[in-house]
Amino acid sequence: MNKGKLIVFSAPSGSGKTTIVRHLLGKEDLNLEFSISAASREPRGEEVNGKDYYFISLEEFKKHIKAEDFLEWEEVYRDNFYGTLKSEIERIWALGKNVIFDIDVAGGLRIKHKFPEQTLAVFVKPPSVDELKRRLKQRSTESDDKINMRIAKASVELATAPQFDTIIKNYDLDTAKKEAYQLVKAFVNKD
Ligand code: 5GP
Repeated sequence: MNKGKLIVFSAPSGSGKTTIVRHLLGKEDLNLEFSISAASREPRGEEVNGKDYYFISLEEFKKHIKAEDFLEWEEVYRDNFYGTLKSEIERIWALGKNVIFDIDVAGGLRIKHKFPEQTLAVFVKPPSVDELKRRLKQRSTESDDKINMRIAKASVELATAPQFDTIIKNYDLDTAKKEAYQLVKAFVNKD
């Protein structure tokens, strides 16, 4: 099988990484396919099963862990498990495409360590923790408790930024999108 490249985007929740990843998916020349993660949480807003995530029960998730079906998985928030199924990467490689991931920092670094040459690991940095808080509140898809949990985690995640191949500062979304496109384009076109 022709193994494509792996492009990891990691960042604290609310940094804008999902918006950047969606933007890149719209660029046909990059030949990207989104890695749909398995998640044990409930769908939010307009999210669709099999498109945004494979929404599965906690019980089912734990069965997959036991069966070693995951390339990586994390309990990102308490009782909220997320993971990349090995079968998902095989599916995308079989299509002859490069894989793009929107995953948390621990999962992102794990993929980088497993496939060091094939992976471009990008950290998306928000302007500040206060701005992150503002964006999460504006999104208003979660309770205050959940938002606070995400913010508490953000400081820990920000400290991992130097371990990534590159950091994109998302202070201005259009600039960040352009920078991301140039970076990924150079990486996917490299031998
Ligand atoms: P959300 O609940 O906002 O969709 O995602 C919460 C966090 O889990 C985000 O940082 C998201 O990138 C991360 N995440 C999503 N899928 C995966 C995955 O497969 N593995 C890991 N490690 N994190 C993931």
